[in-house]
Amino acid sequence: MEWFTLERLDQQTVAISEYGHWEKVRSFLLMGQKEALLIDTGLGIGSIKDVVEGLTDLPIRVVLTHVHWDHIGGVGEFDNCNVHPLDQEWLEQGIPVWDTVSVRKELMRELSQPLPADFDISRFELFKGCPTGHLLDSMEIDLGGRKVCVIHTPGHSPGHVSFIDTNGYLFPGDCLYSSETPIYGNYPSTSPQDLVRSLEKLANLPGIQRIFGSHNQLEIWVSSQELRDSVTYLRENDLVRHGTGLHQFRAFRLLF
Ligand SMILES: [Zn+2]
Ligand SMILES: [Zn+2]
Repeated sequence: MEWFTLERLDQQTVAISEYGHWEKVRSFLLMGQKEALLIDTGLGIGSIKDVVEGLTDLPIRVVLTHVHWDHIGGVGEFDNCNVHPLDQEWLEQGIPVWDTVSVRKELMRELSQPLPADFDISRFELFKGCPTGHLLDSMEIDLGGRKVCVIHTPGHSPGHVSFIDTNGYLFPGDCLYSSETPIYGNYPSTSPQDLVRSLEKLANLPGIQRIFGSHNQLEIWVSSQELRDSVTYLRENDLVRHGTGLHQFRAFRLLF
């Protein structure tokens, strides 16, 4: 069985999922006429670059929703990577609670598929390095016949970004995914206030057609009105702060 599961959202868009690890993390390849965009790079188990190069000959631009270890695993395989300035320091210096040893442990936890034959966990190193470019709110990336807009959606991390393309495909990263696991707004480095504001920002985006999660099931079925109602509920009940626990909604849950 292949480590990466490929699911085509259309001719020009592929979801690259790692269902063999309990986090079920997912990266996305968006192809235009001139360039392809890789949103996140997965766990670092197996070569995501080989997968991507098997799908397209276009030059690859790598963008990171944020720099948690489960989204930057393959970033070292590429010659470029773009992040929001507020997550840059973590990419360069690491996140204090995560080092190579603790990430190796996480990677080997609750595996449901065999690892690729050429993957050796003892050689895994957590990526640290400088980004080659920045992602800023409202920035437009032109892939040729297809534009992708960057939306700064902090909360889960300070420099977290989401993406929406000209098809109305929304890629909200770890700001919104389906409810098998909660969206984490409970670490000291998170901000429940920012996360809720970001959900509200996503809810108010015009033209959303489909929403694709970076964890768990591929597509999230939640309306903008439902998102707005969740935001209102949390605020009215004074739940938008650390320590208020798990907040369950129909299509997703939040942990503060
Ligand atoms: Zn994350
Ligand atoms: Zn994640």
